[in-house]
Amino acid sequence: MSFELLPSIHDVMPHNLDRVEAILEEFDRAGLRPVTLLVVPGLDWQARDLQRLRAMLQRGHELAGHGWHHRMAPPRSLYQRLHSALLSRGVAEHLPLDEASVVELVQRCQRWFGEHALPAPALYVPPAWALGRIAPARLDGCGFRYIETLAGIHDLHARRLYRLPLVGFEADTAVRAAFLRGFNAVNRGVASARGVLRLGVHPRDRQLRLRRDLAGWLSTPRPVTCLERLGARRAAPAPGPGSQH
Ligand SMILES: [Zn+2]
Repeated sequence: MSFELLPSIHDVMPHNLDRVEAILEEFDRAGLRPVTLLVVPGLDWQARDLQRLRAMLQRGHELAGHGWHHRMAPPRSLYQRLHSALLSRGVAEHLPLDEASVVELVQRCQRWFGEHALPAPALYVPPAWALGRIAPARLDGCGFRYIETLAGIHDLHARRLYRLPLVGFEADTAVRAAFLRGFNAVNRGVASARGVLRLGVHPRDRQLRLRRDLAGWLSTPRPVTCLERLGARRAAPAPGPGSQH
């Protein structure tokens, strides 16, 4: 069964850099490169932290924007309360925001990279993949070409959605481990048909319950693809205006 991987490390924050670098070492040993690093800008980044980011870039990895401060304001609806408690653990910072506030947050995220002499990322991933009350197309013009949600990756220039399966490992309870194992099995099952599988790693995953599953992925050499090559693949048509994921 052949498919390529689109690997990423989420929640790249100043206090997580040791863990991020350790995971990158494993990716490097397996020859899985480039890895997309999802950077949370609105934190206390010091010059030495930014230097570590630049060192990762020099090794061929890529940056993406990942929210602003990665914390959700107090939930304003039952849906938001449930999402926060069950799925996103209080990080889905887009959810309580109106459309204009989401646009402002994404623009602020994009500006941060230039202000810190880092290359402008092509990809934006909302925390917990939760874009909130806005259609991806409304973010065209914010400086990011690609927006990633649970459904897949939206190419705002080509106006396409690439529906890509996803595996993840952030399981700190038995219930989450069981859920994610099933989710991963289903997604791996459709990976061959789609040709690409997103592999999303969080900094603490090597200490959590699915660490052996993750180690299996990191010890299996496999071709890696990148966003620019997605366009060469067969893709699903983009959703209509106003649709959300
Ligand atoms: Zn995150």
